Amino acid sequence: MESYWRKQTNSLPPDGNSEAAAPGAEKGNDVPYDVIVVGAGMAGLLTAYYLKESGRRVLVLEAKTVASGQTERTTAKITSQHGIKYSTLIQKAGKKRALLYAKANEEAILSYEKLVKKEQIDCQFARVPAFLYTRKEGTVLREEAKAAASLGIDATFTTETELPFPVEGAVRFGGQAQFSPLEFLRHIAAGFEIREHTMVRAVHGSQVLTDAGVFLAENVVAATHYPFRNVPGFYFLRQHQERSYVLALSGCDDIRGMYYGVDEDGISLRQAGDVLLFGGGGHRTGEAKQCGAYEALLEKAKYYYPDCREVARWSAQDCMPHDGIPLIGRYSVFTPHLYVATGFQKWGMTSAMVAALLLRDELCGVENPYRKLFSPQRLCVRAGIRDFLTDVGMSVKGLVRGLFCRPRCPHMGCELEWNPQERSWDCPCHGSRFDEDGKLLDNPAKRDIENW
Ligand SMILES: Cc1cc2nc3c(=O)[nH]c(=O)nc-3n(C[C@H](O)[C@H](O)[C@H](O)COP(=O)(O)OP(=O)(O)OC[C@H]3O[C@@H](n4cnc5c(N)ncnc54)[C@H](O)[C@@H]3O)c2cc1C
Repeated sequence: MESYWRKQTNSLPPDGNSEAAAPGAEKGNDVPYDVIVVGAGMAGLLTAYYLKESGRRVLVLEAKTVASGQTERTTAKITSQHGIKYSTLIQKAGKKRALLYAKANEEAILSYEKLVKKEQIDCQFARVPAFLYTRKEGTVLREEAKAAASLGIDATFTTETELPFPVEGAVRFGGQAQFSPLEFLRHIAAGFEIREHTMVRAVHGSQVLTDAGVFLAENVVAATHYPFRNVPGFYFLRQHQERSYVLALSGCDDIRGMYYGVDEDGISLRQAGDVLLFGGGGHRTGEAKQCGAYEALLEKAKYYYPDCREVARWSAQDCMPHDGIPLIGRYSVFTPHLYVATGFQKWGMTSAMVAALLLRDELCGVENPYRKLFSPQRLCVRAGIRDFLTDVGMSVKGLVRGLFCRPRCPHMGCELEWNPQERSWDCPCHGSRFDEDGKLLDNPAKRDIENW
Protein backbone atom coordinates (compact mmCIF):
# COMPACT_ATOMS: atom_id res chain seq x y z
CA MET A 1 0.00 0.00 0.00
CA GLU A 2 1.34 3.39 -0.97
CA SER A 3 2.30 5.77 1.82
CA TYR A 4 1.06 9.34 1.95
CA TRP A 5 4.59 10.55 1.14
CA ARG A 6 4.81 8.36 -1.96
CA LYS A 7 1.41 9.60 -3.14
CA GLN A 8 2.69 13.18 -2.71
CA THR A 9 6.14 12.70 -4.25
CA ASN A 10 6.01 10.91 -7.56
CA SER A 11 9.55 10.73 -8.82
CA LEU A 12 12.82 10.71 -6.95
CA PRO A 13 16.31 10.85 -8.44
CA PRO A 14 18.22 9.30 -10.08
CA ASP A 15 16.52 10.70 -13.16
CA GLY A 16 18.94 12.92 -15.05
CA ASN A 17 22.32 11.21 -14.75
CA SER A 18 22.56 8.42 -17.33
CA GLU A 19 25.41 6.67 -15.48
CA ALA A 20 23.36 6.56 -12.30
CA ALA A 21 20.17 5.63 -14.09
CA ALA A 22 21.54 2.49 -15.72
CA PRO A 23 19.92 -0.38 -13.85
CA GLY A 24 21.02 -3.87 -14.78
CA ALA A 25 24.43 -2.87 -16.15
CA GLU A 26 26.26 -6.03 -17.16
CA LYS A 27 29.69 -4.97 -16.06
CA GLY A 28 30.84 -3.39 -12.81
CA ASN A 29 33.05 -0.38 -12.49
CA ASP A 30 36.77 -1.13 -12.11
CA VAL A 31 37.86 2.28 -10.77
CA PRO A 32 37.62 1.96 -6.97
CA TYR A 33 35.31 4.36 -5.20
CA ASP A 34 36.40 5.85 -1.91
CA VAL A 35 33.15 4.61 -0.39
CA ILE A 36 30.25 2.49 -1.60
CA VAL A 37 27.11 3.01 0.44
CA VAL A 38 24.69 0.10 0.20
CA GLY A 39 21.05 1.20 0.61
CA ALA A 40 19.37 4.43 -0.51
CA GLY A 41 17.17 5.07 2.53
CA MET A 42 17.53 8.02 4.93
CA ALA A 43 20.69 6.56 6.51
CA GLY A 44 22.44 5.69 3.26
CA LEU A 45 21.63 8.92 1.46
CA LEU A 46 22.63 11.18 4.36
CA THR A 47 25.88 9.24 4.77
CA ALA A 48 26.62 9.56 1.06
CA TYR A 49 25.78 13.28 1.17
CA TYR A 50 28.20 14.09 3.99
CA LEU A 51 30.97 11.89 2.58
CA LYS A 52 30.68 13.59 -0.79
CA GLU A 53 30.68 16.97 0.93
CA SER A 54 33.98 15.91 2.56
CA GLY A 55 35.49 15.27 -0.85
CA ARG A 56 35.03 11.49 -1.06
CA ARG A 57 34.07 9.74 -4.30
CA VAL A 58 30.89 7.89 -3.39
CA LEU A 59 28.56 5.40 -5.10
CA VAL A 60 25.21 4.34 -3.67
CA LEU A 61 23.93 0.87 -4.60
CA GLU A 62 20.22 0.28 -4.03
CA ALA A 63 18.39 -3.03 -4.45
CA LYS A 64 15.09 -1.38 -5.43
CA THR A 65 14.60 2.37 -5.88
CA VAL A 66 15.58 5.45 -3.88
CA ALA A 67 13.82 5.61 -0.49
CA SER A 68 11.60 2.63 -1.29
CA GLY A 69 12.46 0.90 2.01
CA GLN A 70 11.17 1.87 5.45
CA THR A 71 12.01 5.52 4.82
CA GLU A 72 9.01 6.07 2.54
CA ARG A 73 6.77 4.65 5.28
CA THR A 74 8.02 6.68 8.22
CA THR A 75 5.95 9.32 10.01
CA ALA A 76 9.06 11.55 9.83
CA LYS A 77 9.15 13.09 13.28
CA ILE A 78 12.65 14.43 13.82
CA THR A 79 13.01 14.16 17.56
CA SER A 80 15.26 13.14 20.42
CA GLN A 81 12.11 11.93 22.19
CA HIS A 82 12.34 8.18 21.66
CA GLY A 83 9.61 6.82 23.93
CA ILE A 84 10.43 6.40 27.60
CA LYS A 85 14.13 6.57 26.87
CA TYR A 86 16.10 8.72 29.25
CA SER A 87 14.95 7.36 32.62
CA THR A 88 15.61 3.86 31.25
CA LEU A 89 19.01 4.75 29.78
CA ILE A 90 20.18 6.45 32.96
CA GLN A 91 19.19 3.36 34.91
CA LYS A 92 20.61 0.76 32.50
CA ALA A 93 23.54 2.49 30.80
CA GLY A 94 24.42 5.26 33.26
CA LYS A 95 24.07 9.02 33.13
CA LYS A 96 27.18 9.60 31.01
CA ARG A 97 25.91 7.48 28.14
CA ALA A 98 22.37 8.83 28.48
CA LEU A 99 23.81 12.34 28.16
CA LEU A 100 25.70 11.40 24.99
CA TYR A 101 22.55 9.83 23.52
CA ALA A 102 20.55 12.99 24.23
CA LYS A 103 23.23 15.28 22.79
CA ALA A 104 23.70 13.19 19.64
CA ASN A 105 19.99 13.26 18.89
CA GLU A 106 19.47 16.94 19.74
CA GLU A 107 22.41 17.77 17.46
CA ALA A 108 20.83 15.65 14.73
CA ILE A 109 17.76 17.91 14.75
CA LEU A 110 19.98 20.95 14.37
CA SER A 111 21.92 19.26 11.56
CA TYR A 112 18.66 18.72 9.62
CA GLU A 113 17.76 22.35 10.10
CA LYS A 114 21.18 23.52 8.87
CA LEU A 115 21.08 21.18 5.89
CA VAL A 116 17.58 22.25 4.86
CA LYS A 117 18.67 25.91 5.08
CA LYS A 118 22.01 25.39 3.30
CA GLU A 119 20.49 23.44 0.41
CA GLN A 120 17.26 25.49 0.46
CA ILE A 121 15.14 22.35 0.49
CA ASP A 122 11.40 22.86 0.28
CA CYS A 123 10.26 19.95 2.47
CA GLN A 124 7.93 21.53 5.06
CA PHE A 125 10.63 21.37 7.71
CA ALA A 126 9.22 22.95 10.88
CA ARG A 127 10.28 23.15 14.52
CA VAL A 128 7.42 21.81 16.65
CA PRO A 129 7.18 20.34 20.15
CA ALA A 130 7.00 16.56 20.71
CA PHE A 131 4.88 14.94 23.40
CA LEU A 132 4.82 11.53 25.03
CA TYR A 133 1.46 10.98 26.69
CA THR A 134 -0.33 8.48 28.89
CA ARG A 135 -4.00 8.03 29.70
CA LYS A 136 -3.16 5.84 32.66
CA GLU A 137 -0.93 6.95 35.49
CA GLY A 138 1.46 9.87 35.05
CA THR A 139 4.31 8.95 37.43
CA VAL A 140 6.48 7.26 34.80
CA LEU A 141 6.24 10.29 32.53
CA ARG A 142 6.99 12.64 35.42
CA GLU A 143 10.20 10.62 35.94
CA GLU A 144 10.95 10.73 32.22
CA ALA A 145 10.55 14.51 32.10
CA LYS A 146 12.89 14.85 35.07
CA ALA A 147 15.46 12.48 33.55
CA ALA A 148 15.42 14.22 30.14
CA ALA A 149 15.68 17.68 31.71
CA SER A 150 18.66 16.53 33.79
CA LEU A 151 20.42 15.76 30.48
CA GLY A 152 19.88 19.25 29.12
CA ILE A 153 16.79 18.59 27.00
CA ASP A 154 14.02 21.21 27.06
CA ALA A 155 11.65 18.73 28.75
CA THR A 156 8.67 19.48 30.98
CA PHE A 157 5.80 17.51 32.46
CA THR A 158 2.32 18.72 31.54
CA THR A 159 -1.30 17.63 31.38
CA GLU A 160 -2.19 20.18 28.68
CA THR A 161 -2.21 18.85 25.09
CA GLU A 162 -4.16 19.46 21.86
CA LEU A 163 -5.34 15.85 21.80
CA PRO A 164 -9.09 15.16 21.45
CA PHE A 165 -9.08 13.23 24.75
CA PRO A 166 -7.81 13.97 28.26
CA VAL A 167 -4.43 12.61 29.33
CA GLU A 168 -3.10 11.78 32.79
CA GLY A 169 0.29 13.15 31.91
CA ALA A 170 2.59 14.13 29.07
CA VAL A 171 6.25 14.98 28.57
CA ARG A 172 6.80 17.95 26.29
CA PHE A 173 10.13 18.32 24.45
CA GLY A 174 10.58 21.78 22.92
CA GLY A 175 12.52 22.48 19.72
CA GLN A 176 11.81 19.22 17.90
CA ALA A 177 10.95 19.06 14.18
CA GLN A 178 9.00 17.40 11.39
CA PHE A 179 9.29 17.36 7.60
CA SER A 180 8.29 15.64 4.41
CA PRO A 181 10.96 12.93 4.05
CA LEU A 182 10.70 12.21 0.34
CA GLU A 183 10.69 15.89 -0.64
CA PHE A 184 13.84 16.18 1.47
CA LEU A 185 15.47 13.15 -0.13
CA ARG A 186 14.47 14.21 -3.64
CA HIS A 187 16.89 17.08 -3.18
CA ILE A 188 19.61 15.20 -1.29
CA ALA A 189 19.71 12.26 -3.73
CA ALA A 190 20.17 14.50 -6.76
CA GLY A 191 23.77 15.21 -5.81
CA PHE A 192 25.58 11.91 -6.34
CA GLU A 193 25.88 8.66 -8.24
CA ILE A 194 23.20 6.09 -7.43
CA ARG A 195 22.54 2.74 -9.06
CA GLU A 196 19.04 1.47 -8.45
CA HIS A 197 17.92 -2.17 -8.93
CA THR A 198 21.36 -3.33 -7.83
CA MET A 199 21.16 -5.81 -4.97
CA VAL A 200 24.45 -6.31 -3.15
CA ARG A 201 24.95 -10.03 -2.62
CA ALA A 202 28.24 -9.98 -0.71
CA VAL A 203 31.24 -7.89 0.21
CA HIS A 204 34.72 -9.46 0.05
CA GLY A 205 37.40 -6.99 1.10
CA SER A 206 37.22 -4.17 -1.43
CA GLN A 207 34.91 -6.11 -3.79
CA VAL A 208 31.18 -5.46 -3.70
CA LEU A 209 29.39 -8.28 -5.50
CA THR A 210 26.12 -7.48 -7.25
CA ASP A 211 24.04 -9.00 -10.04
CA ALA A 212 25.26 -6.11 -12.20
CA GLY A 213 28.94 -6.91 -11.66
CA VAL A 214 31.66 -6.31 -9.10
CA PHE A 215 32.23 -2.78 -7.81
CA LEU A 216 35.41 -1.78 -6.02
CA ALA A 217 35.68 0.49 -3.00
CA GLU A 218 38.16 1.36 -0.27
CA ASN A 219 35.31 1.24 2.27
CA VAL A 220 31.73 -0.01 2.28
CA VAL A 221 28.81 1.18 4.41
CA ALA A 222 25.88 -1.20 4.93
CA ALA A 223 22.89 1.14 5.33
CA THR A 224 20.43 -1.58 4.41
CA HIS A 225 18.06 -1.22 7.37
CA TYR A 226 18.87 -4.79 8.49
CA PRO A 227 22.55 -5.75 7.87
CA PHE A 228 22.99 -8.14 4.93
CA ARG A 229 25.84 -10.26 6.28
CA ASN A 230 25.26 -12.73 9.14
CA VAL A 231 28.87 -13.63 10.01
CA PRO A 232 30.85 -11.86 11.30
CA GLY A 233 28.73 -9.24 13.01
CA PHE A 234 25.94 -11.56 14.26
CA TYR A 235 23.31 -8.83 13.93
CA PHE A 236 20.63 -11.52 13.75
CA LEU A 237 21.33 -12.17 17.46
CA ARG A 238 21.32 -8.51 18.43
CA GLN A 239 17.95 -7.17 17.32
CA HIS A 240 14.51 -8.15 16.05
CA GLN A 241 11.97 -6.26 13.91
CA GLU A 242 8.62 -4.71 14.90
CA ARG A 243 5.85 -3.47 12.61
CA SER A 244 3.17 -0.81 13.02
CA TYR A 245 0.40 0.77 11.00
CA VAL A 246 -0.37 4.31 9.85
CA LEU A 247 -3.41 6.10 8.40
CA ALA A 248 -3.38 9.51 6.72
CA LEU A 249 -6.70 11.21 7.47
CA SER A 250 -8.36 14.33 6.10
CA GLY A 251 -11.15 16.17 7.90
CA CYS A 252 -9.53 16.19 11.38
CA ASP A 253 -8.77 19.20 13.55
CA ASP A 254 -5.22 20.42 12.89
CA ILE A 255 -2.62 19.81 15.58
CA ARG A 256 0.74 21.53 15.89
CA GLY A 257 2.71 19.14 18.09
CA MET A 258 3.80 15.55 17.47
CA TYR A 259 2.35 12.95 19.84
CA TYR A 260 3.31 9.43 20.88
CA GLY A 261 1.19 7.36 23.28
CA VAL A 262 3.23 5.20 25.65
CA ASP A 263 0.30 2.98 26.74
CA GLU A 264 -0.12 -0.39 25.03
CA ASP A 265 -2.98 0.94 22.89
CA GLY A 266 -1.40 4.40 22.48
CA ILE A 267 -1.54 6.19 19.15
CA SER A 268 0.97 8.36 17.38
CA LEU A 269 -0.19 11.61 15.74
CA ARG A 270 1.31 14.40 13.69
CA GLN A 271 0.05 16.87 11.14
CA ALA A 272 1.39 16.65 7.56
CA GLY A 273 -0.03 19.47 5.48
CA ASP A 274 -3.81 18.97 5.34
CA VAL A 275 -3.79 15.46 6.76
CA LEU A 276 -3.30 13.93 10.17
CA LEU A 277 -0.98 10.91 10.41
CA PHE A 278 -2.56 8.50 12.88
CA GLY A 279 -0.49 5.42 13.78
CA GLY A 280 -0.44 2.49 16.15
CA GLY A 281 -1.02 -1.24 16.55
CA GLY A 282 2.66 -2.22 16.83
CA HIS A 283 3.76 -5.85 17.16
CA ARG A 284 6.75 -8.07 16.49
CA THR A 285 7.05 -8.92 12.78
CA GLY A 286 5.63 -12.40 12.18
CA GLU A 287 3.03 -12.08 14.93
CA ALA A 288 0.11 -10.62 12.97
CA LYS A 289 -2.31 -13.49 13.42
CA GLN A 290 -5.47 -11.73 12.26
CA CYS A 291 -6.81 -8.93 10.09
CA GLY A 292 -8.18 -5.69 11.46
CA ALA A 293 -5.21 -3.50 12.40
CA TYR A 294 -6.20 -0.70 9.99
CA GLU A 295 -9.88 -1.08 10.81
CA ALA A 296 -9.15 -0.79 14.55
CA LEU A 297 -7.14 2.38 13.93
CA LEU A 298 -9.86 3.83 11.71
CA GLU A 299 -12.53 3.06 14.29
CA LYS A 300 -10.50 4.92 16.92
CA ALA A 301 -9.94 7.82 14.56
CA LYS A 302 -13.66 8.05 13.75
CA TYR A 303 -14.47 8.12 17.44
CA TYR A 304 -12.33 11.23 17.94
CA TYR A 305 -12.81 12.78 14.49
CA PRO A 306 -16.25 11.68 13.20
CA ASP A 307 -15.80 13.55 9.88
CA CYS A 308 -12.40 12.10 9.05
CA ARG A 309 -11.73 10.36 5.75
CA GLU A 310 -8.91 7.95 4.95
CA VAL A 311 -6.45 9.28 2.37
CA ALA A 312 -3.77 6.58 2.66
CA ARG A 313 -2.85 3.55 4.76
CA TRP A 314 0.45 1.76 5.07
CA SER A 315 2.70 -0.13 7.46
CA ALA A 316 6.40 -0.33 8.17
CA GLN A 317 8.90 -2.05 10.42
CA ASP A 318 12.11 -1.28 12.18
CA CYS A 319 14.99 -3.01 13.97
CA MET A 320 14.92 -3.08 17.77
CA PRO A 321 18.37 -3.59 19.36
CA HIS A 322 18.46 -5.20 22.81
CA ASP A 323 20.02 -2.33 24.73
CA GLY A 324 17.90 0.36 23.03
CA ILE A 325 20.87 2.04 21.30
CA PRO A 326 21.41 1.94 17.51
CA LEU A 327 24.40 0.04 16.14
CA ILE A 328 26.55 2.42 14.11
CA GLY A 329 30.23 2.01 13.21
CA ARG A 330 32.59 -0.77 12.18
CA TYR A 331 30.62 -3.86 11.11
CA SER A 332 32.91 -6.20 13.07
CA VAL A 333 36.51 -6.38 14.28
CA PHE A 334 37.27 -8.75 11.38
CA THR A 335 36.05 -6.38 8.65
CA PRO A 336 38.10 -3.17 8.94
CA HIS A 337 36.66 -1.57 5.78
CA LEU A 338 32.99 -2.46 6.29
CA TYR A 339 30.66 -0.20 8.31
CA VAL A 340 27.04 -0.45 9.41
CA ALA A 341 24.08 1.66 10.56
CA THR A 342 21.11 -0.24 11.98
CA GLY A 343 18.87 -0.68 15.05
CA PHE A 344 16.97 2.60 14.78
CA GLN A 345 13.98 1.40 16.94
CA LYS A 346 11.41 3.42 14.95
CA TRP A 347 13.41 6.61 15.46
CA GLY A 348 15.40 6.49 12.27
CA MET A 349 15.23 10.16 11.29
CA THR A 350 17.55 11.42 14.02
CA SER A 351 19.37 8.06 14.14
CA ALA A 352 20.11 8.24 10.40
CA MET A 353 21.58 11.73 10.87
CA VAL A 354 23.64 10.55 13.86
CA ALA A 355 24.86 7.64 11.71
CA ALA A 356 25.72 9.82 8.72
CA LEU A 357 27.80 12.26 10.76
CA LEU A 358 29.49 9.53 12.77
CA LEU A 359 30.37 7.44 9.71
CA ARG A 360 31.62 10.50 7.85
CA ASP A 361 33.96 11.26 10.75
CA GLU A 362 35.06 7.64 11.06
CA LEU A 363 35.84 7.37 7.35
CA CYS A 364 37.59 10.74 7.26
CA GLY A 365 39.73 10.00 10.34
CA VAL A 366 38.02 12.58 12.57
CA GLU A 367 37.31 11.80 16.24
CA ASN A 368 33.55 11.69 16.96
CA PRO A 369 32.31 12.02 20.57
CA TYR A 370 29.56 9.42 20.02
CA ARG A 371 31.67 6.66 18.47
CA LYS A 372 31.88 4.47 21.59
CA LEU A 373 28.23 4.89 22.55
CA PHE A 374 26.95 3.59 19.20
CA SER A 375 29.81 1.20 18.46
CA PRO A 376 28.52 -2.21 17.32
CA GLN A 377 31.47 -3.68 19.22
CA ARG A 378 30.08 -2.57 22.60
CA LEU A 379 28.84 -5.30 24.91
CA CYS A 380 25.09 -4.86 25.05
CA VAL A 381 23.94 -8.25 26.28
CA ARG A 382 23.71 -7.28 29.96
CA ALA A 383 21.56 -4.21 29.35
CA GLY A 384 19.08 -6.17 27.23
CA ILE A 385 19.42 -9.70 28.54
CA ARG A 386 15.66 -10.37 28.55
CA ASP A 387 15.23 -9.30 24.89
CA PHE A 388 18.37 -11.22 23.94
CA LEU A 389 17.03 -14.44 25.46
CA THR A 390 13.61 -13.91 23.86
CA ASP A 391 15.20 -13.40 20.45
CA VAL A 392 17.46 -16.43 20.80
CA GLY A 393 14.41 -18.48 21.88
CA MET A 394 12.41 -17.25 18.87
CA SER A 395 15.28 -18.07 16.50
CA VAL A 396 15.73 -21.58 17.88
CA LYS A 397 11.97 -22.23 17.68
CA GLY A 398 11.78 -20.83 14.13
CA LEU A 399 14.79 -22.83 12.96
CA VAL A 400 13.52 -26.10 14.44
CA ARG A 401 10.04 -25.60 12.98
CA GLY A 402 11.68 -24.64 9.68
CA LEU A 403 13.16 -28.16 9.51
CA PHE A 404 9.67 -29.63 9.29
CA CYS A 405 7.36 -26.90 7.95
CA ARG A 406 7.12 -24.79 4.81
CA PRO A 407 7.58 -22.10 3.71
CA ARG A 408 11.04 -21.43 5.11
CA CYS A 409 12.86 -18.13 5.09
CA PRO A 410 15.84 -18.07 2.71
CA HIS A 411 17.74 -15.90 5.25
CA MET A 412 18.43 -18.62 7.85
CA GLY A 413 15.74 -21.24 7.33
CA CYS A 414 13.18 -20.21 9.98
CA GLU A 415 9.54 -21.11 9.46
CA LEU A 416 7.49 -18.22 8.03
CA GLU A 417 4.13 -17.15 9.44
CA TRP A 418 1.16 -16.11 7.27
CA ASN A 419 0.11 -12.49 7.85
CA PRO A 420 -3.56 -12.26 6.82
CA GLN A 421 -3.62 -8.49 7.38
CA GLU A 422 -1.03 -7.76 4.70
CA ARG A 423 -1.24 -11.06 2.78
CA SER A 424 2.46 -11.74 3.29
CA TRP A 425 4.73 -14.44 4.71
CA ASP A 426 6.65 -12.93 7.64
CA CYS A 427 9.63 -14.28 9.61
CA PRO A 428 9.12 -13.97 13.39
CA CYS A 429 12.83 -14.53 14.03
CA HIS A 430 14.50 -11.79 12.00
CA GLY A 431 11.69 -9.98 10.19
CA SER A 432 12.14 -10.85 6.50
CA ARG A 433 8.86 -10.63 4.56
CA PHE A 434 7.58 -12.07 1.26
CA ASP A 435 4.40 -11.55 -0.75
CA GLU A 436 1.93 -14.36 -1.29
CA ASP A 437 3.91 -15.55 -4.34
CA GLY A 438 7.11 -15.70 -2.29
CA LYS A 439 8.64 -12.52 -3.72
CA LEU A 440 10.96 -10.69 -1.31
CA LEU A 441 9.44 -7.61 0.38
CA ASP A 442 11.70 -6.85 3.35
CA ASN A 443 15.22 -7.93 4.34
CA PRO A 444 17.44 -9.41 5.87
CA ALA A 445 16.65 -12.12 3.27
CA LYS A 446 18.19 -11.27 -0.11
CA ARG A 447 16.17 -13.54 -2.37
CA ASP A 448 12.67 -14.81 -3.03
CA ILE A 449 11.35 -18.06 -1.55
CA GLU A 450 12.14 -20.94 -3.90
CA ASN A 451 10.83 -24.51 -4.11
CA TRP A 452 7.85 -24.32 -1.73
C1 LIG B 1 5.38 2.93 11.42
C2 LIG B 1 6.71 3.59 11.58
C3 LIG B 1 6.78 4.95 11.79
C4 LIG B 1 8.02 5.57 11.94
N1 LIG B 1 8.06 6.90 12.19
C5 LIG B 1 9.23 7.48 12.50
C6 LIG B 1 9.28 8.83 12.91
O1 LIG B 1 8.28 9.51 13.01
N2 LIG B 1 10.50 9.35 13.21
C7 LIG B 1 11.64 8.62 13.14
O2 LIG B 1 12.71 9.13 13.48
N3 LIG B 1 11.62 7.33 12.72
C8 LIG B 1 10.45 6.74 12.40
N4 LIG B 1 10.42 5.45 12.02
C9 LIG B 1 11.69 4.75 11.74
C10 LIG B 1 12.30 5.16 10.40
O3 LIG B 1 11.31 5.24 9.41
C11 LIG B 1 13.37 4.14 9.98
O4 LIG B 1 14.22 3.89 11.06
C12 LIG B 1 14.22 4.67 8.83
O5 LIG B 1 13.40 5.06 7.77
C13 LIG B 1 15.20 3.61 8.39
O6 LIG B 1 15.98 4.16 7.37
P1 LIG B 1 17.13 3.29 6.74
O7 LIG B 1 17.81 4.13 5.73
O8 LIG B 1 17.95 2.67 7.80
O9 LIG B 1 16.36 2.05 6.05
P2 LIG B 1 15.52 1.97 4.71
O10 LIG B 1 14.76 3.19 4.44
O11 LIG B 1 14.76 0.69 4.76
O12 LIG B 1 16.64 1.88 3.59
C14 LIG B 1 17.42 0.72 3.37
C15 LIG B 1 17.58 0.53 1.86
O13 LIG B 1 18.53 -0.50 1.63
C16 LIG B 1 18.11 -1.24 0.50
N5 LIG B 1 18.74 -2.56 0.59
C17 LIG B 1 18.52 -3.53 1.50
N6 LIG B 1 19.34 -4.57 1.28
C18 LIG B 1 20.09 -4.25 0.20
C19 LIG B 1 21.14 -4.91 -0.50
N7 LIG B 1 21.57 -6.14 -0.13
N8 LIG B 1 21.68 -4.30 -1.58
C20 LIG B 1 21.27 -3.05 -1.96
N9 LIG B 1 20.30 -2.38 -1.31
C21 LIG B 1 19.72 -2.97 -0.25
C22 LIG B 1 16.60 -1.29 0.65
O14 LIG B 1 15.98 -1.56 -0.61
C23 LIG B 1 16.28 0.10 1.19
O15 LIG B 1 15.98 1.02 0.16
C24 LIG B 1 9.21 4.80 11.87
C25 LIG B 1 9.13 3.43 11.67
C26 LIG B 1 7.91 2.81 11.55
C27 LIG B 1 7.88 1.34 11.43
